[in-house]
Amino acid sequence: MNEELRRAELAESLSEVRARVDRACRAAGREPGEVELLAVTKTFPASDVALLADLGLTEFAENREQEARGKVAEFAGLRPEAPARWHMVGQLQRNKARSVVRWADVVESVDSERLVEALRKATANALDAGDRTHPLEVLLQVSLDESEGRGGCRPDEVPALADMITLTSDLRLRGVMAVAPLGGDPAVAFDTLSKISERLRGDHPEAVEVSAGMSGDLESAVAHGSTRVRVGTALLGGRRLTSP
Ligand SMILES: *Cc1c(COP(=O)(O)O)cnc(C)c1O
Repeated sequence: MNEELRRAELAESLSEVRARVDRACRAAGREPGEVELLAVTKTFPASDVALLADLGLTEFAENREQEARGKVAEFAGLRPEAPARWHMVGQLQRNKARSVVRWADVVESVDSERLVEALRKATANALDAGDRTHPLEVLLQVSLDESEGRGGCRPDEVPALADMITLTSDLRLRGVMAVAPLGGDPAVAFDTLSKISERLRGDHPEAVEVSAGMSGDLESAVAHGSTRVRVGTALLGGRRLTSP
């Protein structure tokens, strides 16, 4: 597609998404500035990320390590001065830890002790080698239904994982993340997540982020305290390749 057409299309969808977030905040008695917009750019090219950065977005997310790695590098070539931060939001194999810490500022899909340990070690090595300059921010992904496969730890595993993360010096615990269960009522799921977040903040006051809400359910997530909505389709359009 012609770049100017795509720019106009993205500008329009961005203003629609921002208006939805603002309306949801006002309806919930919250300030629009309390909710961060994370653009989920999976399956879309680095050129789209560049256009979104031109439109003022700074937070981008990917769900596949291999796809992200190349895209982040390509984007850095297209917009070397843009103040972008990258989030990994997909399920992560431990053997990808070394690679993910070279491009991700935040990993939102942390859900096991083994993954915490792999990320800790990989981050320490990357800091030593000069491949990154900051500790890795992490969110604990919580599974809000019993089904395996979409990732996430059980709610009762959160306290021990949180303690383990805060004992490291290379990982920074920033909060929780969840995906509303398929077919369920998102409001019930997001209400559960907000209670999990509240308990977590009792022990770890710095873990303030609640990453919840996607294109289809962001209003409900904002009503239940989301601080970060992750939006793909409503910003970039439908994905041709299916992505888990
Ligand atoms: C793809 C994805 C999103 C965005 O979903 P949309 O419905 O396209 O907005 C959010 N979170 C995660 C973890 C995803 O994989």
